[in-house]
Amino acid sequence: MFPRPLPSPNALTAPYWEAALNGELELPRCETCAAFHFYPRTTCPHCGSQNLAWHAVSGRGEVYSFTVVHRAPSKGFEALVPYVVAVVALEEGPHLMTRLIGVAPEAVRIGLKVKVEFKKQDEQTRLPVFRALA
Ligand SMILES: [Zn+2]
Repeated sequence: MFPRPLPSPNALTAPYWEAALNGELELPRCETCAAFHFYPRTTCPHCGSQNLAWHAVSGRGEVYSFTVVHRAPSKGFEALVPYVVAVVALEEGPHLMTRLIGVAPEAVRIGLKVKVEFKKQDEQTRLPVFRALA
């Protein structure tokens, strides 16, 4: 079996991957204006505050945009094609790119309701993916 690339957590992103390993989706939230943001960064994109903390979110959202991958980008992805790469708009506001599961590629629609799940990649890594809700 060919490997797929794994994340390389750094000081800014480690909390995200540690939460995922524990089956939680956590995002950075500004403690000054209370807005969530994603990707992680050192400064709130809404108000400029550097008073940020990680908080669990619902893991629920809807498909904002998507594409269907038919040609594997490397050998590690060959068993997955065709698969759906989507931008999910979380209930808390931020968008994140992910893979959709539990739905045929031809059935995916903008606005489809989804919920996060975590796929074990190795002992240190669980990747957030989103399952389509009926
Ligand atoms: Zn802020």
